[in-house]
Amino acid sequence: MSATSMEQLISLCKRRGIIFQSAEIYGGLQGVYDFGPLGVELKNNIKNAWWKSMVYERDDIEGLDSAILTHRKVLQYSGHEDTFSDPLVDCKQCKTRHRADHIKDNKCPNCGSADLTEPREFNLMFKTSIGPVDDGTNFGYLRPETAQAIFTQFRNVVDSTARKLPFGIAQIGKSFRNEITPRNFIFRVREFEQMELEYFVEPGTDEEWHETWKNERLNWWVEQGLKRENLVAQDIEGDDLAHYAKACFDIEYKFPHGLEELEGVANRTDYDLGNHTKAQNEFEITAHVHPNKDSNAKLCIRDEVNNKWIIPYVIEPSAGVERGVLALLTEAYEEEDLGEGNSRIVLKLKKHLAPVKVSVIPLKKNHEKIMETCFEIKKRLLKLGIGRVSLENTGNIGKAYRRNDEIGTPFCITVDFETIEKTPASVTIRDRDTMQQERIELDKLEEFIRGQFI
Ligand code: ATP
Repeated sequence: MSATSMEQLISLCKRRGIIFQSAEIYGGLQGVYDFGPLGVELKNNIKNAWWKSMVYERDDIEGLDSAILTHRKVLQYSGHEDTFSDPLVDCKQCKTRHRADHIKDNKCPNCGSADLTEPREFNLMFKTSIGPVDDGTNFGYLRPETAQAIFTQFRNVVDSTARKLPFGIAQIGKSFRNEITPRNFIFRVREFEQMELEYFVEPGTDEEWHETWKNERLNWWVEQGLKRENLVAQDIEGDDLAHYAKACFDIEYKFPHGLEELEGVANRTDYDLGNHTKAQNEFEITAHVHPNKDSNAKLCIRDEVNNKWIIPYVIEPSAGVERGVLALLTEAYEEEDLGEGNSRIVLKLKKHLAPVKVSVIPLKKNHEKIMETCFEIKKRLLKLGIGRVSLENTGNIGKAYRRNDEIGTPFCITVDFETIEKTPASVTIRDRDTMQQERIELDKLEEFIRGQFI
């Protein structure tokens, strides 16, 4: 377990506008959260870092942004209608519901009673009617994973980009699961975002690629700021594997509530492309496949070496954005003892993830000349494209530093009377981690900040 407690994080998130309970004014919608002014920045920064490392920095991955509303047939042939479920147990005493695998010693986790029902399968997908007539037949689903559209659009991407194996398709977007017991703040929720890569490879090379992607993904999380000793790659076996997987590594993190899955790296074989393909007998499909009577596509690619059409295998690293936010906050949160009864809370996020990159603070509130310089600095720093630069016209430097430490702002720039009275003009720049303040000439400020972020 981490030294940071969930209570510390929940309190910080509410106080500083990072995460709020959804529909709080009506008592809250369970398992659903809204990201506040700083949460949206943090989330976007994580997603941008993932997209950059997957799509921009590599030459073998394309992007996609597919619809959330999903055709019923897609989730029928993917196996989700039949198998995407959790066994559920009801407590007859206190009427609460629990996942069977969360029950310990045959006792209700809520009231301790042993008067429980037998486990029943509960499908986790949100069904929704589509179109104006709600007669029970016109329905689809909110997708439970972003991956399925990557499979159903596989041929369109291959045909429009002329990709050869191995190559991947990356996507970030919302997924929905009607979790029986949402809990642990944003760890298990009913609406969340996934960052998913489907990496298509030649059958036979899949196990090597699976290992490669496990390591790539571990390294990426370390680059984002998670300590390697707080991450574990767990080899999932047997009944714990998802219905589509031949093998899976769960990348687990020491969350405040314990060691749990942050990202799954699965070997989905040819299961999905095979299941969505017509005339399946033309291919050497290895995974269990239902005969497909409805698809009009062959989701295959040319094997140039053996000169034939094949259905590739796929390796899938799939990470939850909310679990990423929670892990990174857990790791970054520190309460520092400054001596003499003073302390501070500081979020030591990596600079590229910080919701606010630089905060410009006037020494005196509403002072015309000082404010003019503040606006000018903000304008110049924004042009660097580093992200959000805030201007805090409160006139209380101590409070502004405290707030910026708590939200992880790497640099605070203070404009004072020396800035406007002396030449060459200079400002103070305060480093979040060391709390050291330095005076720097205004003309050198952009170069300094650029050097810190780019
Ligand atoms: P779990 O076993 O925790 O229910 P899972 O194995 O069903 O997760 P996957 O289907 O592998 O999860 O989904 C990939 C990733 O999506 C997970 O590693 C996680 O980060 C995220 N994710 C899945 N379900 C949720 C959820 N209910 N809330 C938040 N994130 C989730």
